[in-house]
Amino acid sequence: MTGPLIDTHCHLNHDGLREDIAATVKRATEAGVIHLVIVSYDLGSSLEAVTIAEKLGSYASAVVGIHPTMAHTCDREALKILDDLAQNPAVVGIGETGLDLHYAFPPIRSQLESLHAHIELASRHGLPLVFHCRDAYAPLLAELERFAPIHGVMHCWAGTPHQAAQSVALGLHLGFGGVVTFKSAFDVHTAARECPIDRLVLETDAPFLAPVPYRGKSNEPSYIALTAERLAELRGISQADLAEASTRNAATLYPQVATRLHAALRG
Ligand SMILES: [Zn+2]
Ligand SMILES: [Zn+2]
Repeated sequence: MTGPLIDTHCHLNHDGLREDIAATVKRATEAGVIHLVIVSYDLGSSLEAVTIAEKLGSYASAVVGIHPTMAHTCDREALKILDDLAQNPAVVGIGETGLDLHYAFPPIRSQLESLHAHIELASRHGLPLVFHCRDAYAPLLAELERFAPIHGVMHCWAGTPHQAAQSVALGLHLGFGGVVTFKSAFDVHTAARECPIDRLVLETDAPFLAPVPYRGKSNEPSYIALTAERLAELRGISQADLAEASTRNAATLYPQVATRLHAALRG
């Protein structure tokens, strides 16, 4: 156990995790995880994230939004619902949004429209943004340049060290997950070493991208401890220092998580 740790990005609102939330939360607590941020990918998962976060009280928060691969569903009606959800005290961010050019659909024009709508929503509510990026670092960073400085995170970092530096220059945090534990993820190792200590946050993206030795299996928030261990090793710092820094950064990234945790501590 390296805690206290915050999982800044997981999907308890997804098949593979939603079926047994109580047991998942119990194992996370035992692994030193003090808070979970449940991130959404469409309208249904946004509503579900808020419901789960409300049930878990100060242990979890929700981020609401529509994933770039679902950008074609981000119409005016959907945005109205997201706008209402953003006022819920359990909602601490907007996303995941961004660009995913791995598949030919939806077209980049529709992904950019959705991205702009999410940026507008976040700025109207004073909330941080969670960016998803797949095969699209160059166009996404070029687009975000227009909105800098940006309060948010590039989740599941997988770009080059240069792109990592560009993201940090835009004001963004970098989210490191299970990929850090993969042997051949050399660029991610470099980014994990070079990322300013005050911009690094931990995430699982559970149920996806489980760290070694669970690679290929279903991921869960308790496994974040394995990513924390590997990150501390890569940076040559103690696990306690890594836990302290990443948890402080998570609270800077999501100010309302800090507020909710403090309120809980005060009882
Ligand atoms: Zn993602
Ligand atoms: Zn995700």
